[in-house]
Amino acid sequence: MDCTLSELTETVQAAGAPAYRARQIHEWIYRKYARAFAEMTNLPQAMRAELAAQTTLMPLEPIARRVSKAGDTQKVLFQLPDGETVEAVLMLYNRRRTLCISSQAGCAMGCTFCATAQGGLRRNLTGGEIVAQVLFFARYLHDAGEKPKMRVKRPTTVTNIVLMGMGEPLHNYDSVWNAIRRLTAADGFGLGARHITLSTVGLTPMIDRMADEGIQVNLAVSLHAPNNPLRSKLVPLSRRYPVDELLASVRRYIAKTNRRVTFEYALMRDVNDSPALAEDLADKLRGILCHVNLIPLNPIPDSPFQPTSDRDTERFAEVLRAGGISTTVRIRRGIEIDAGCGQLRHSAAA
Ligand code: SF4
Repeated sequence: MDCTLSELTETVQAAGAPAYRARQIHEWIYRKYARAFAEMTNLPQAMRAELAAQTTLMPLEPIARRVSKAGDTQKVLFQLPDGETVEAVLMLYNRRRTLCISSQAGCAMGCTFCATAQGGLRRNLTGGEIVAQVLFFARYLHDAGEKPKMRVKRPTTVTNIVLMGMGEPLHNYDSVWNAIRRLTAADGFGLGARHITLSTVGLTPMIDRMADEGIQVNLAVSLHAPNNPLRSKLVPLSRRYPVDELLASVRRYIAKTNRRVTFEYALMRDVNDSPALAEDLADKLRGILCHVNLIPLNPIPDSPFQPTSDRDTERFAEVLRAGGISTTVRIRRGIEIDAGCGQLRHSAAA
């Protein structure tokens, strides 16, 4: 699961088998979403047994699953081979099947409103563990026997991926980009780069590095405040990479890629949701090729941070729009299934 087709070809040839066997294995993984080597019926039986003895096809074991009442959102908690756990959430829309995946077990960024931050960083995921989350849900959507309960027409594949689950993707840069390459490769999962969104709290040197990757995934920056004193209270990383420095790296990114950037802003009642802050935000972002996505905060039990009311969310959005900033309010999904990042893991451990 951790290797590309050419690496797999080398391994297969080193074991004395012909190169086409690697293509067959690859096809079973990325096109037929095989659960086990035993399913790969066009491989010799001895080879299947050898592969099963020496390597792991699926490094994730689903240990908890929650499905929303409407059946359109489901979250799965996975256990990794070393016992660590991560989450992924599948959201079904009329035309899109969007999967939110994790890049790390836990997170080192310490955002004060976030459930994942509470346990700190446990470890980075490998590229294979990131890709495996996608293949798990691709298999689920592909499998006619699963019959997900939902109002929309049965989807058959994952159409969009957002790296917005547990972890800071740019803090696990190499594994994340290893996964993105395999998810976008024509001989891998084959998803268009523009259907993948990477969300960061603002590791600015890595935003510059990303601009040179040549794979044009969407960049989303979790901003949450227009000024550094307030942002530093919510996102401690802002003490190291202040708002203005972050926005400068976003400008450089846009200059290089010509891609519009999304700013995510989780609205928290009486913390960052005043009309005055909306005006400040509009002033900060004016002239940047961007879009603002206002997110109703998923509340964590016993947290001082609570979501802004619908009325105040709309008022905040109106001020931004009046200031010339393209703005949407994200549809709230999965509150009843603890779908905010880190919440199922948190409640499973409680
Ligand atoms: S919001 Fe994202 S970056 Fe911040 S602690 Fe949570 S998982 Fe990490």
